[in-house]
Amino acid sequence: MKDKILQALRDSRALVRDQIEYERCTHSGHYAEDDFDCQICEFGFECQWLYRNDEFVSLERRSADSLLESLEFAIIYIDSSIERWGHDRRACRCDACCWLRNSQRLRDELQKNTD
Ligand SMILES: [Zn+2]
Repeated sequence: MKDKILQALRDSRALVRDQIEYERCTHSGHYAEDDFDCQICEFGFECQWLYRNDEFVSLERRSADSLLESLEFAIIYIDSSIERWGHDRRACRCDACCWLRNSQRLRDELQKNTD
């Protein structure tokens, strides 16, 4: 089950990353915790999330709960992007919409198991 969360998180990274305008970033997308620019950047939230969920930060060692929390953020984020784009979540076949449907199903399954 943990593998499925990891896979969903990996896939979501690309979707989140696609939405950040890196050409305006002075760190070329590398979140700098102590830089004020990063704290006020409009993509700060996304960037921090990417930073905390970096594939090199060894997702494997984190607890299932903490992974689920990250997945929840990705779901909310992708869901609001889709809302903005005006896609039909239930029928659209783009990467983001497919990811959202699969991840919501995965999250619901996981929550059922922990209840
Ligand atoms: Zn779509």
